[in-house]
Amino acid sequence: MSDYGFSPDPKPEFPVAPPHEEAAERGERGARPDSPPARPAAASGAHHAHAHADDDELRDVDEVRAWILESIPSLTPIELPLPEAHACVMAGDVTAQMDMPPFSSSAMDGFAVRAVDVAEATQDSPIKLRIVGRAAAGHPAEGTVGMDESLRIATGAPVPAGSDCVIPVEMTYAEGEHVYIQRALPEGANVRPAGQDARGGEVLVPKGRKIGAAELGLLAASGRASVFVYPRPRVAVLSTGDELVEPGRPAPFGMIRDSNSFTLFGGLREAGAAPYLGGIVRDDPDALRESVLGLAIRSDVFVSSGGVSVGERDVVKKAFFRRGDVEFYKVAMQPGMPQGFGMIEGKPYFGLPGNPVSVFVSFEVFIRPALLKMMGRRDIFRPEVTAVLESDVSGPKQKTVFARVRVSRDQGRWHAASTGPGASNLLTTVTKANGLAIIPPGVETAEAGSEVRVMLFRALEDDA
Ligand code: AMP
Ligand code: MG
Repeated sequence: MSDYGFSPDPKPEFPVAPPHEEAAERGERGARPDSPPARPAAASGAHHAHAHADDDELRDVDEVRAWILESIPSLTPIELPLPEAHACVMAGDVTAQMDMPPFSSSAMDGFAVRAVDVAEATQDSPIKLRIVGRAAAGHPAEGTVGMDESLRIATGAPVPAGSDCVIPVEMTYAEGEHVYIQRALPEGANVRPAGQDARGGEVLVPKGRKIGAAELGLLAASGRASVFVYPRPRVAVLSTGDELVEPGRPAPFGMIRDSNSFTLFGGLREAGAAPYLGGIVRDDPDALRESVLGLAIRSDVFVSSGGVSVGERDVVKKAFFRRGDVEFYKVAMQPGMPQGFGMIEGKPYFGLPGNPVSVFVSFEVFIRPALLKMMGRRDIFRPEVTAVLESDVSGPKQKTVFARVRVSRDQGRWHAASTGPGASNLLTTVTKANGLAIIPPGVETAEAGSEVRVMLFRALEDDA
């Protein structure tokens, strides 16, 4: 076996002691900052080779998530050109370098005048002014406006000195070198004052703000071509399993299409990360290690699906059980129970179970918030609503059940309808859903008519 750089002193791969035993041997129980909390002491008695010792040890969803979020570093901010910075989070405040807009300009095509000169103007007795020049957008005005004078002015052109008001062209008529003003307007009319949008030094876009369309425009208006933001994490996605085939290729009997790569790709994209599909890896620990390390240089995060439970061929566990700092554990949730998380090459590694719905739910519960944190986001959780269940939803009593539901609004209340059975392989139940109803531990059956929390994973406007 080659040393891939996880450890200067390669350890035997398997069989090995379960990680908590290893930690206990090192006297680090409960002291490792990278360990999930609330690990029951009862687990230390196992001595057999396979990692069965922690089978019964279910970890609380919220605690596991909190531990993951604590372990996840934010990415180092980088300077990106505006188009690439779109949808990223500001890494610092951006302030106005000068007043915005920087000069007073006309809001209309018309004539720049002194309001006082035209105060008596009406349709029937217009005021006659001399046209002394022109003020075009993008140029300084050709002259100044003195008593009974005016300049022809275009929208966006700097208002000439002396003038305090623009009369729209519709309220005038010109004859040769003169214009007849047919309406009186007050000082400031149709003039966009300098500094009205923002004063020099004022914060335009604050640190922590996700850059949307308006922010991008404002940054450009302030003169910046680039901005410091948290980068998008580059996430390498791998699917493990001897039974997997890429979509588009024939699937002989017994083989199935790799759907997880694509579920993850979509989820990552939607979260604002930059996914990279690393493909299918056979159930061979060496091959998996090689793939992961081959991707390390271009990745900030790794996600694999499959091979994390206790089966003979659970390849992720075999590959990383004692390498790096990946821990494998069971979460008290359905679906998505077995999970692995840790650091490889200093980068977060998420080992998800293989079942397609488990992948979807695990991504929503653990990975998405972690990525948003890496991207500097403060609001990292999906919005939740309280909804009335339309039918009973049952699940294992000791687990948090994430039930696929479709929520809709009716007579001022949210309603949640189950989209199908709870089995972890039924992806259509996810495509029909827009939310995950959260049935907490201790509840075996959430009854029709009762209220549940639902996390919404689809924007309602996308939900046709
Ligand atoms: P595992 O966790 O590797 O035991 O896989 C659990 C189940 O999920 C098995 O039925 C696998 O065939 C299925 N599975 C694993 N990986 C994928 C994948 N990438 N796409 C679709 N199904 C998968
Ligand atoms: Mg597998």
